[in-house]
Amino acid sequence: MKSGNTVSAIHILDQATVNQIAAGEVVERPASVVKELVENAIDAGARSIRIDVTSSAKEILSIRIIDDGSGISSADALLAFTPHATSKITRIDDLHHIRTLGFRGEALASIAAVSRVTLNTRLRNAGEVTGTQVIVEGGVTREKGEAGVPEGTNVLVEDIFFNTPARKKFQKSKNTEIAHIHAILEGICLAHPEISFRLYVNQNEQLVTDRSPRILDTIARIYGSDVVKDLIPLNLSLPFMKISGYISRPSLARRDATRIMIAINQRYVSSPIIMRAVKEGYGTLLPKDRFPVAFLSLEIDTQLVDVNVHPTKKLVRLSREHEITEAISEAVMAVLLSQDLIPDVAAPSKLYLEGSCRESVTVPDQRYDFTAPAPPGICEALHPGTVMTDRQLRQTELQTGMVPLDAKLPVMEVIGQLGGIYILATTDTGELVLIDQHALHERILYEQVLERTEGDHRSQELIVPFILHRTLQETAILRDLLPALAQEGFVLEEFGRDTFLVRAIPVVLGKMEDTTMIDEMVSDLVSEEQIRSVNTRERITRIIACRGAIKAGTVCTREQCQRLIQQIRFAKNPFTCPHGRPTMLRFSRSDLDTMFRRT
Ligand code: ADP
Ligand code: MG
Repeated sequence: MKSGNTVSAIHILDQATVNQIAAGEVVERPASVVKELVENAIDAGARSIRIDVTSSAKEILSIRIIDDGSGISSADALLAFTPHATSKITRIDDLHHIRTLGFRGEALASIAAVSRVTLNTRLRNAGEVTGTQVIVEGGVTREKGEAGVPEGTNVLVEDIFFNTPARKKFQKSKNTEIAHIHAILEGICLAHPEISFRLYVNQNEQLVTDRSPRILDTIARIYGSDVVKDLIPLNLSLPFMKISGYISRPSLARRDATRIMIAINQRYVSSPIIMRAVKEGYGTLLPKDRFPVAFLSLEIDTQLVDVNVHPTKKLVRLSREHEITEAISEAVMAVLLSQDLIPDVAAPSKLYLEGSCRESVTVPDQRYDFTAPAPPGICEALHPGTVMTDRQLRQTELQTGMVPLDAKLPVMEVIGQLGGIYILATTDTGELVLIDQHALHERILYEQVLERTEGDHRSQELIVPFILHRTLQETAILRDLLPALAQEGFVLEEFGRDTFLVRAIPVVLGKMEDTTMIDEMVSDLVSEEQIRSVNTRERITRIIACRGAIKAGTVCTREQCQRLIQQIRFAKNPFTCPHGRPTMLRFSRSDLDTMFRRT
């Protein structure tokens, strides 16, 4: 059919095939009319499709779809309106090899049953002088005859739901309907960059895409070039699946998953499992309630894709689902980790609003004397009282088993420290980088704790066991966590009704002189126990990382800052802390020039 010139004849499916097809209503709302008719135009090999919607203040009045596709022969024009009449499949077996968007032969029949449809059509490249006009109203043929019409097909739908008052009443406002039409068309446009689409509402142009071999042009047309700037290409080829498209840098995150757009074999689908797989690929690059933007086009062996699940064909069932989703998550992760993901400040990351890091802030000790003059707040610090920081840093330097990765991190040199919280550094290309020292160290610790394999506890015994008192309720929670804690290097022993003895702690926490840290960690753990957003190991790991990391408010020497930056080079994901907040922000020279209006 898509070849364009050869048009298969329309025929009525046999009962056995009809019985196999997911039955149900396809025309739920005006937007469904747009979807079905545009899909027909695509199946007819159209290169350009125009959608005209008119409305009153209250409701949609008419929908017209004009295509330059194959057209319908005069002999078939009426048959197209018969239920189960289609040119796209013939027998049950064909259901396993569907490449067309339609195959049920029900859309035209269903639409014409609840409205008045005027179809004008003429076969493309058939040398026929005239075409055909058919008018069907409420399922009844009103007119059929010759008509002088251009090649292709023009379907006008009016008086939608005139004879089904219930459905008409359920329509939401006109604006809601138009929003639905937009959403459907966006998905279709992205699945078909090779077709030019134009949507007009009351003669006003609303959405236009040009024919292009590159989906990026379509994305830019629909969502603007700002979005494109933050996209990273993703291409993957496996024996049974090919993926191409784009995923967003974490800085483009959204509050919902609606902009993870998936097309399977050029059909825009709604696939929660694939959306989840994409999100999972971001791991800790995004907070759990933030979602990336992604435009992915999957080519999957048609045998593995069942589109005959739901009448609107928006849901699909996948065989080898697990392999498919795993491959997607891995591909997403691999692509992200090969990138320099330090957010540019020109695109401020207002997205990272939360993150459940319970870092406690040390008030900076202002008594240090600075040997070099520095602007207020910037500590060019060289003072002796940084033993604790040194020890914390040494801990993360000592851990072996991590290999430096080419994580696209620029080479950075420390300028100074701000307020005991941020490290200022410059890159070899003259950019300014602001680093959150706590978040950065937290990330380093987190990955080191995760790196360890089971049995490799690296627990250190405390010379004097530490006594921990808890409420009875907390005791109960903690008791359940003892095995998991032991896995991570915390050896706790029950010692009476509401008391525990802490005998050993993870090595990464260093020599612990101040046992309040252990107390705080256990508090974090039992209180987060009620949240249960991530698994226990992940939770314990995050807590160790958060509590073991250099705190905000700790004044560090330049050498210590430099060591910290050196350590992050070993991290797999240096760009966010385990809660998904950024570890660093970058100001390029041109960002600064723009801010100072030097350009
Ligand atoms: P289906 O798309 O499932 O086959 P429809 O009811 O949507 O069922 O359409 C019935 C038939 O009418 C199609 O199989 C196709 O042959 C023909 N048809 C519908 N719309 C068009 C179009 N725009 N251009 C060419 N043929 C069309
Ligand atoms: Mg159809």
